[in-house]
Amino acid sequence: MPELPEVETIKRELGKVILGKKITEIIINNPKVIKEPGRSDFVKGLKNNTIKNILRKGKLLILELSSGKDLAIHLRMTGQLVYPGNGKTSRVSFRLSDGEILDFNDRRLLGELRLLDKWEELKFVKDMGPEPFDLGIEKFKEMLAKKKTKIKPLLMDQTFISGVGNLYAAEALFRARIHPERPASSLSDKEKENLLKEIKDTLKEAIEHKGSSIDQYVQLSGQRGDYVKYHKVYGREGKPCVVCKALIKRTSMGGRGTYFCPKCQR
Ligand SMILES: [Zn+2]
Repeated sequence: MPELPEVETIKRELGKVILGKKITEIIINNPKVIKEPGRSDFVKGLKNNTIKNILRKGKLLILELSSGKDLAIHLRMTGQLVYPGNGKTSRVSFRLSDGEILDFNDRRLLGELRLLDKWEELKFVKDMGPEPFDLGIEKFKEMLAKKKTKIKPLLMDQTFISGVGNLYAAEALFRARIHPERPASSLSDKEKENLLKEIKDTLKEAIEHKGSSIDQYVQLSGQRGDYVKYHKVYGREGKPCVVCKALIKRTSMGGRGTYFCPKCQR
């Protein structure tokens, strides 16, 4: 699933190519990804609107429109935004005033498009925890101190911290040398400081490499993100640890594949 670096990459690329353009036509090939309002209001509400601003909140992408409404896009598992697109293989496409098409592709149809009065009013947005980049160490320490749950699922909990998912939680925990099953409250102050730093550094590096193309994620151009080749544990089961050469293990935590080094991570 695209996480903060992937959505941030798309946001930055969209900013270069669709900002200030008008949506002249909405092509719906499969309405299932349109969550609200209904199909005809969705089309009416979008048509002839200029894209004024592009925002990201956690893994949510928001296009602010000239009408004052917002188009909120969640890619979920297999959503893609591609420009210029073709309008044919997408679920929904937007023809823009430059004549080009922005495609919303989604193989598994789990993505979500919403035309809203205010994206800030979405319940899951209100429930979102802070982004790692907005977090200071004192606040992070305080947040972890009360939590007895395991550290990895906690990092992936969007109400705790927003933007981090399965992949970057695994990478940051490896870099901080913390076992993914440790109770959050058991981390020492030093480990907490280290972990927050590694979360931020991992996300920053992934943004520089335009994200990780696992599953279906691609950049706006359709090209793959480059960060996969820098993964230290994710997807590396049975391969030697880059630090100690022990074999990377994979377990399942809460139904998600979890990769770690049994020797480095304690
Ligand atoms: Zn190791």
